[in-house]
Amino acid sequence: MKHLWFLLCLIFAVNMPAQPAQTISVVTVIRAGTLIDGKSDKVKHDQVIFIRGNRIQRVSDASSTQIPSDAKLIDLSQQTVLPGLIDSHTHIFLQGEDPAQGGYDANILNAPLALRAARATVAARRALEQGFTTLRDVETEGAGYGDVGIKQAINLGYIPGPRLFVSTRAISTTGGYQLEGYAPELDMPKGAQIADGPVEARKAAREQLDHGADWIKVYMTHRSWVGKNGELVSQPTFTVEELRAIVDETHGWGRKVACHAYSGIGLHRALDGGCDSIEHGLDLDDAAIAQMLRQGTWYVPTLTVYYTDWAPENTPDGKRDRLRASAHEVSFKKALKAGVKIVFGTDMGGISWTQPIAQEFIRMVDFGMTPMDAIQSATSRASVMLDKEGEIGMITPGAYADIIAVSGDPLRDIRMLENVQFVMKDGQVFREK
Ligand SMILES: [Zn+2]
Repeated sequence: MKHLWFLLCLIFAVNMPAQPAQTISVVTVIRAGTLIDGKSDKVKHDQVIFIRGNRIQRVSDASSTQIPSDAKLIDLSQQTVLPGLIDSHTHIFLQGEDPAQGGYDANILNAPLALRAARATVAARRALEQGFTTLRDVETEGAGYGDVGIKQAINLGYIPGPRLFVSTRAISTTGGYQLEGYAPELDMPKGAQIADGPVEARKAAREQLDHGADWIKVYMTHRSWVGKNGELVSQPTFTVEELRAIVDETHGWGRKVACHAYSGIGLHRALDGGCDSIEHGLDLDDAAIAQMLRQGTWYVPTLTVYYTDWAPENTPDGKRDRLRASAHEVSFKKALKAGVKIVFGTDMGGISWTQPIAQEFIRMVDFGMTPMDAIQSATSRASVMLDKEGEIGMITPGAYADIIAVSGDPLRDIRMLENVQFVMKDGQVFREK
């Protein structure tokens, strides 16, 4: 009998839930004056959002919903509530390096990795402060697998930061990435992993996937200049055969490939090789746009970064910098009109993290995108690209409770998104003004 009791107690103990029941039952309720849910084109007013744990449980009209007396109430009835924003092109390991202080090269040659990790920690916090609860960070620029470590530090709760989709080292070819311009006798470190030939290219992808890459980033073009006929010319890097080895390997792991591609041969190889997203796409010709539509390729234009740091006007670099921006505007407008799937991305890191991330929205709207479309490019549309539809970028039952608020109406003035006043990530309030 004594033994039976012991056995019964043991069975009971094993079946006890790890969490006490009362912590699970605590509900947080957000009162939203105006709700943009990230998916619907329609705005709703006077809504309540029920959050249990780190997930949204239900969304309903405030007038017809009873709020439990023990619920934690957050009053955003004077504000516009949106899903946490997603920036799909960032570099937390870059800080908008000042050329006067050695620029990109000094970051790799002089900065200890711990210093770079400390700066990346600040970049991650700045993104979250501004309401960006998810980043697709597209390579560490010489900081190896540092992004995997920062992602772990965030997920384990050591540092605050957005959800990270990381791509580790990125891959380019010999002659396809900096550091460059040094004596040829020197074996200089590179900002990306260099691979030549389909075997090396596939191996680089395997290594990066093995070490935690959520996405593989490939450079399909490198240098660019103004051509004989005033057109933007880009130096291509990988062949289609090399790229196909990377894409085939990555897709086999159930992951995707983001391709940096400006124009011309490299852009077309990127599409022929099956890249999932085109980054920058400065000069999209009609054939490229048609192929992107046919293949369902995502377009992450990153407009703003091409308006920073232009070289002096009448120099070759200055002419190229201005042509990049003007061609980009035309490409963006053509892609928008054609219905290419445009996703919000900034290239932060190429821009200092002290700058507002949301400035990209302003340029997208200036170039003809509706504010609602621009918001969806940084919410539900990005979530589909990231294979996280229904989980992030939407205020809907079952999604993670990543929720932000701004005062005023961002559909009337998109600049409102530069002043995010409330940030919740994973059900935890990070910022409340
Ligand atoms: Zn970039």
